[in-house]
Amino acid sequence: MSRQTAGLISLGLLRELPASSLSPRVGRPHVPLDVDTRRHLACGVHIAVPFVTFSVVDLRGQVVAREQRPREGDAMTVLQMIIRHLPGFLARHATGSRVLGLGVVTGGRVDPELGLVVEHEPLDWRDVPVRAVLAAATGLPVHVDGHARALAQAEILFGDPRARRSLLHLFVGNVADAAFATDGSVHIGPNSAAGGIAHLRLADSDAHCRCGRSGCVQATLSERTLLRHAVGEGIISRPDLQDLLAAALGGDRRAVALFRDRLRVVGRLIALLVDMMDPEIVVLTEAATLFLPALRADLFAEISAYSRVCAEPERMVLPSSFGPDVLAVAAGAAVLDAVHRSPHSLLAGLTTPRPAAGAASPRRPATPLTRHGN
Ligand SMILES: [Zn+2]
Repeated sequence: MSRQTAGLISLGLLRELPASSLSPRVGRPHVPLDVDTRRHLACGVHIAVPFVTFSVVDLRGQVVAREQRPREGDAMTVLQMIIRHLPGFLARHATGSRVLGLGVVTGGRVDPELGLVVEHEPLDWRDVPVRAVLAAATGLPVHVDGHARALAQAEILFGDPRARRSLLHLFVGNVADAAFATDGSVHIGPNSAAGGIAHLRLADSDAHCRCGRSGCVQATLSERTLLRHAVGEGIISRPDLQDLLAAALGGDRRAVALFRDRLRVVGRLIALLVDMMDPEIVVLTEAATLFLPALRADLFAEISAYSRVCAEPERMVLPSSFGPDVLAVAAGAAVLDAVHRSPHSLLAGLTTPRPAAGAASPRRPATPLTRHGN
């Protein structure tokens, strides 16, 4: 243990805390340890339908910096924009730290092994070689993954400890994606298609889907559908989720009702998935769950009514651990997962980093790691 932790300390991944930070105890002396968030950072890019989010996150998954740019044009136009924006972004927010890699995440079907976005329907992307293009342009190790899976990994690393045993993560935005994990490992599948729920058929929906059928999960639940209804009912004048959230937060009952109706459908979907998988916990990344917490009661009621196994949805179903940071964390999570799994891979090409100027102490409490003194 001591040799391993000494190695991680010399890599700048762990640091020793003053002994006084632990209460005195009987037995061998302990040196408290903490993740060293000062020297290494992960860079992330989250590609969504309306915008691209650039982020810098530390080894605890805390967001250090974030910027957004509108997403415009086809896949290569977006990748070229990312290549132009990254150097300035890293100069502004990561100077003095070692950037461990670039995580790129998006919805739809993503093959992490090939670094390929296989299919993202709302973006109209097919077989986009994201890793090849961005690795060549940036010289950084590039990790590409689906955002539902990346967020599942982030929950396993930083969220409720039950997630390490088994977890279902559901993402509902412009795409609807799921990811599931057991024993700390997120299932990808031979076709990189695990968690693809977009075209599961919902019994009580007749929403027309691009696939030619109707009632598909994504067509029913997507933000596009939600915003189309909101504009159609005259609640908002343009299809913008922030506008609709502002209306709901401002007390517009029609806006609240739209979010509530969608959340009820999400509840029925969760009941279905929970009954199939029986996970320890479910993490839901969805706007109303995050920003209109009063509506969670409707979600729980629907799950209770439809699930055969979920007796206490309020204990089992949690909103994302990352709140409004969720896209920024998702992007960095692909890198952090690689680092936490194989920290010694950092030995390759190690340079001596300088601590970031003014690096803040971690916002979360120190991990309960201790090292036996010799
Ligand atoms: Zn469909």
